Amino acid sequence: MKTKYVFVLGGVTSSLGKGIISASLAKLLQARGLRVTIQKFDPYINVDPGMLNPYEHGECYVTEDGAETDLDLGHYERFLNVPTSKANSVTTGRIYQTVIQKEREGAFLGKTVQVVPHITDEIKRRMMMLGKTGHYDVVISEIGGTVGDIESQPFVEAIRQLQWELEDEDCAVLHLTLLPFLNAAKELKTKPTQHSVRMLQQNGLQPDIIVCRTEHHMTSDIRKKIALFCNVKPNAVIESIDARSIYQVPMLMMEEKLDEIIIQKLQLKAAKEPELHEWTKFLDKLQHPKTEVDIALVGKYVELQDAYKSILEAFIHAGATNECKVRIHCLHSEHITADNVTEKLKNMHAVLVAPGFGERGIEGKIVAAQYAREQKIPFLGICLGMQIAVIEYARHVLGHKEAMTTEIDAASKYPVIALMEDQKRLTIKGGTMRLGAYECTLQKGSLAYKIYGKEQISERHRHRYEVNNAYVEELHKAGMLATGKNAETGLVEIVEIKEHPFFIGVQFHPEFKSRPVDPHPLFRSFVAAAKGA
Ligand code: GLN
Repeated sequence: MKTKYVFVLGGVTSSLGKGIISASLAKLLQARGLRVTIQKFDPYINVDPGMLNPYEHGECYVTEDGAETDLDLGHYERFLNVPTSKANSVTTGRIYQTVIQKEREGAFLGKTVQVVPHITDEIKRRMMMLGKTGHYDVVISEIGGTVGDIESQPFVEAIRQLQWELEDEDCAVLHLTLLPFLNAAKELKTKPTQHSVRMLQQNGLQPDIIVCRTEHHMTSDIRKKIALFCNVKPNAVIESIDARSIYQVPMLMMEEKLDEIIIQKLQLKAAKEPELHEWTKFLDKLQHPKTEVDIALVGKYVELQDAYKSILEAFIHAGATNECKVRIHCLHSEHITADNVTEKLKNMHAVLVAPGFGERGIEGKIVAAQYAREQKIPFLGICLGMQIAVIEYARHVLGHKEAMTTEIDAASKYPVIALMEDQKRLTIKGGTMRLGAYECTLQKGSLAYKIYGKEQISERHRHRYEVNNAYVEELHKAGMLATGKNAETGLVEIVEIKEHPFFIGVQFHPEFKSRPVDPHPLFRSFVAAAKGA
């Protein structure tokens, strides 16, 4: 079967949920037996979001092969339960980098290198790349930003050319817009949608489907109006009403027949009846919790929920499987002190210390880890959160008051967290952390082993600093055990405290591998421990 292409663009405003719509469409096509993947094109100049502040761009999602990507890739993986890779995440920066490198190599010898055709050709090459592998029936390409942005223009032009080059039944363009509701008039307004579609048409691109994000149901008159003025069939005007959970959106899209319209347009003859048994089972559990728990998420980017996206989603999956509503309390680590920690954490059933970089908020995280350790509250430390747990233990149990990570104090007398030799030599910051999947061997009889139920695991990483092996034995003797290690390098991947019901720190990011239909064992057990606390 030939690979088919769907392009998803957005208009009127950003944050309409293109990622969720793309993932929902992909989910429905996958449920019909098709092989689907999604890729994201981001129009900014950064080569990848690896060095973007979480306040700018939310969480940086990491793939198996170590790409630092947009958080939408997380949605794609959670909805489809298939891994993405470097090829699924492309920025304008990456496109230019490739073209400029080719120019230096002499690939365009004698030619002036221009946005059209050279940049647009490179965009087109990347849009077709996954399709050419023969692994997919449908490739969905989501374009970040909104139509009309200067930086989106080369992407719109590339899609226009592809729409012209490909057969009619091989490509579909979906445009997501906003239908604002004017309270004074008690009316949904279609004009911004009309303008946005007109902008696409001015650039030579005709959408096949218009998905309207709305807080109120659309009448058939509104559908007809949008269809008429935007030049699409009335059944191709789709309502996307606000949902209580993003995981309901595939079902809402199915009710709106989005999948059927795409199947018809792309003549996807292999499509079967949708099979969404596991998904609906998950939704059912999600909607009918039997208990509730309160878990503190101690971090420093708590003002922006997107900064901890995958962690919050992993709790939703783990909550559903435990038939338990997990109420997450995001606590700012800068505001936690030894004086107020009891007040802040006393009603919590568990404490998670979040990943992070830099000095800000470190001491508050140490205080929170100490409280969880001493009060025997279930604790999970992720990446920096695990490093914090080690620092805390070294300070208060081993008595090394100045224990620190060299990320913050390069001259620390007790550098329990430090850089590996190969990291010390690096001068370039972008893409040089320990990134992507690494193996870890679990110690039989440990809590980690009990949780995973096997000896060999593989988890995704994104950090530069490591537990300093010079202190592992001393920590071990004092009751903090390194129960997971990378067999090749000997690097510590997991620590736990022997005399604690549930205290675990992991150098990797389990949240990236949690799925609604396959919750991560660490989050599942952590929520179960919180339930029992
Ligand atoms: N800043 C720490 C490091 O680089 C932890 C990173 C993280 O939490 N992702 O090692």
